[in-house]
Amino acid sequence: MTDVFGDLVGQDEAVAALRRAAASAAALLRAPVPAPAGGPDDLDALAEEHDGDPGPADPGAGMTHAWIFTGPPGSGRSVAARAFAAALGCVHGTGCGSCPGCHTTLTGTHADVRLVVPEGLSIGVNEMRALVLRAASAPSGGRWQIVIIEDADRLTEAAGNALLKAIEEPPPRTVFLLCAPSTHPDDISVTIRSRCRVVPLRQPPPAAVAEVLVRRDGIAPDVAEWAAAAAQGHVGRARRLARDPEARQRRDAVLAVPRRLTGVGAAFDAASALIEAAEAEAAASVAEIDEAERTALQTALGAGGTGRGAAGAMRGAAGQLKDLEKRQKSRATRAQRDALDRALVDLAGFYRDALIMALRAPVAPVHTDTASLAGAGAQKWDAEGSLRRLEAVLECRAAIEANVKPRIAVEAMMLALWRG
Ligand SMILES: [Zn+2]
Repeated sequence: MTDVFGDLVGQDEAVAALRRAAASAAALLRAPVPAPAGGPDDLDALAEEHDGDPGPADPGAGMTHAWIFTGPPGSGRSVAARAFAAALGCVHGTGCGSCPGCHTTLTGTHADVRLVVPEGLSIGVNEMRALVLRAASAPSGGRWQIVIIEDADRLTEAAGNALLKAIEEPPPRTVFLLCAPSTHPDDISVTIRSRCRVVPLRQPPPAAVAEVLVRRDGIAPDVAEWAAAAAQGHVGRARRLARDPEARQRRDAVLAVPRRLTGVGAAFDAASALIEAAEAEAAASVAEIDEAERTALQTALGAGGTGRGAAGAMRGAAGQLKDLEKRQKSRATRAQRDALDRALVDLAGFYRDALIMALRAPVAPVHTDTASLAGAGAQKWDAEGSLRRLEAVLECRAAIEANVKPRIAVEAMMLALWRG
């Protein structure tokens, strides 16, 4: 039986730090600091006082009220934040994984844990203000109020400022857990960063990912090894590849692109195919939840009512329905970008394989199943040509990140890949 940190693959250092902090937090609850009891600076002062001297016997050592989990996509930023939240809410203070505190946190039903998962491309200021306000109340379970912000790099500037204010003057029992790709100022403001303790996660090695797929998901070892390598350290992606035949088909189609680039027309066709595949994948991923939300809203609004007040209710309903549609559209856009980005990462892996083969570098290929194709590419293009193609894929990702229209960026990439 593993505890709440069991799903954090290949992150021994981070897990050790989080365990220490959870133990300190539990000690802090057991031994409340003398006056001024519950003052806003208790946690801060204690954390600073004991920094570098972590020991479970010292209440507060290793614990602080604001954290940033950083690491590449799929390294487990949000898994780490949730596990830590569970450990803080755990009635044993350890993250045992089986008590009600752990269980409700992990299933998202704990009354004192708020999770922000931005569905659109950014987190707005209104959402953040409401959140900060609620987080300031005393924890109902007597432990901690926890706010988890996934993709904190998608905060708008105004939302970031609202969050900063809360982190600068934290309520005594509130803990903020932020997740972001890095602490680069593009991802997280310098002022927020300066108030947080950083937990860096690394890209887990394929062997560690394969091990967890076998142990936890019961996947056959050879499939797990292949999927772990193909997913390039992204645990969730590895699991999907191992289990979902459609995900494998989509990947096969992406990896067929290099072979299909035989001319300008073919390059444009390949661009269209890639974009449309991402759209289809995104549509499938949001369809179910969109429908459930619409039904729930219609039920809540009593759709089809004809009694007194029905006309007024209808007017209100139209507004709410419009809000919902706006949210859903924003979520669909994000899902499309995520799907397209996954395809580009796969494609980059192919050209990276060609490059390491051209250089005869003693490194394992990302895509073992297209290794011979990458080898043929390496002979034809040499290291320089392979590198140029890899760069074309990475430039396409960067352009889309910078809001260039995906179709335009992908067409430019396909032409560059064809011309070499
Ligand atoms: Zn527990």
